[in-house]
Amino acid sequence: MTNRPTSCLDPFEADAISVADARQIIFDQITPIQGSVKVALRDALNQYLAEDLVSPINVPPHVNAAMDGYALAGADLPSENTKAYHVAGASFAGVPSDQSYQQGSVIRIMTGGVMPQGTDSVVPQELVDVLDDGTIKIDAKQHTGQNVRHPGEDIQKGATVLNKGHRISAADLGIIASLGKGEVKVLRRPRVAFFSTGDELKSIGETLNEGDIYDSNRYTLFALLKNLDVEIIDLGVIRDTQEEIEKAFIAAAELADIVITSGGVSVGEADFIKPTLKKLGDTHFWKIAMKPGRPLTFGTYHNSWFFGLPGNPVAVMVTFMQFVQPAVNYLASGSIKPTLTIKASSQQAIKKRPGRTEYIRAIVAQTDNGELEVKLTGNLMSMSLANCFIHLSSESGGVESGDLVEIVPFNNLI
Ligand code: AMP
Ligand code: MG
Repeated sequence: MTNRPTSCLDPFEADAISVADARQIIFDQITPIQGSVKVALRDALNQYLAEDLVSPINVPPHVNAAMDGYALAGADLPSENTKAYHVAGASFAGVPSDQSYQQGSVIRIMTGGVMPQGTDSVVPQELVDVLDDGTIKIDAKQHTGQNVRHPGEDIQKGATVLNKGHRISAADLGIIASLGKGEVKVLRRPRVAFFSTGDELKSIGETLNEGDIYDSNRYTLFALLKNLDVEIIDLGVIRDTQEEIEKAFIAAAELADIVITSGGVSVGEADFIKPTLKKLGDTHFWKIAMKPGRPLTFGTYHNSWFFGLPGNPVAVMVTFMQFVQPAVNYLASGSIKPTLTIKASSQQAIKKRPGRTEYIRAIVAQTDNGELEVKLTGNLMSMSLANCFIHLSSESGGVESGDLVEIVPFNNLI
């Protein structure tokens, strides 16, 4: 596999590539999942259809009333003045009438009730005069065929209801249920493994020695993956040695389509991710003209795609959202999701030089008149206060207070 030519957008580093180019390289390398599985209807939520979904029945299956009222034959409606009718029976939803229609009478019917034999029209109950003796009067403004739903009016038997590759939503689950289907063939979910690297990292429950910190990326990555409906494989913490990392890569490649690591992607003496990936397989890029997240490795080995994210927890969030998430979605669905661009008015001026894309932690909120305003969380504030990144493009030379800026909301915000 070859590396693409890099675009030299970055005055900070001539060999860094742009965010858009990096994303394109990822899409070029990834082959979307083909394998499929049959799952129970509830488990199909958020999965991608592996085949066109064809309706085995007409929806609705029977001619039925669209309103509560009285069913009769259109030919028996008055052409002038009004006409009185005897109410001969009733047809309720799920409880059809066993009577067939007799001229001069009507059959009481409720919405969804099957139209009795011989009837073709429903007069809504609001338009009818009910007389003391129980007979009803209908005027001459009614039409043959009114207020009746026909078989297949919503969905015809044999029609393709949802296309292969479609992601099954809550509404779709209802549609599929209305066809009486209890199982659906969907693409298998991506398997995503991840591990943290660093000799300073301790797992929760362990004692911190001097210089140690707790491994927090493991939890951030778990949470980010949880939102993507993938099979999550947590491989824990790996020490900073070439042997350990190589062993972990080989094991992870057996288990997962995508392998994510955090830490060890710089050029420090304990940074083994890139050389190990290079030794085993291919690396496709290295530096990205972005902040944070500049050192990032993407590569292939065996049948897996590797993302070496930086160790810094904020950089993990940014690079995950910008690269891993689109990659997982493409792997899962075979299509590239267009990104929804949301603009908000910046409450502050932001300094920036052109040449790299920047993602800045921020809080977006809606004002009383419905507009979106965004303010920075401030350096000392926790990442958890932020609910979005402000995205400043590579070309941007900074922002004045009040300027509209593009925001990238975190999951669950919208
Ligand atoms: P590295 O990319 O390995 O040089 O790490 C950059 C910074 O992120 C260092 O300060 C690390 O201690 C920190 N870091 C790396 N991995 C993690 C992790 N799993 N959890 C929390 N911090 C980390
Ligand atoms: Mg490290």
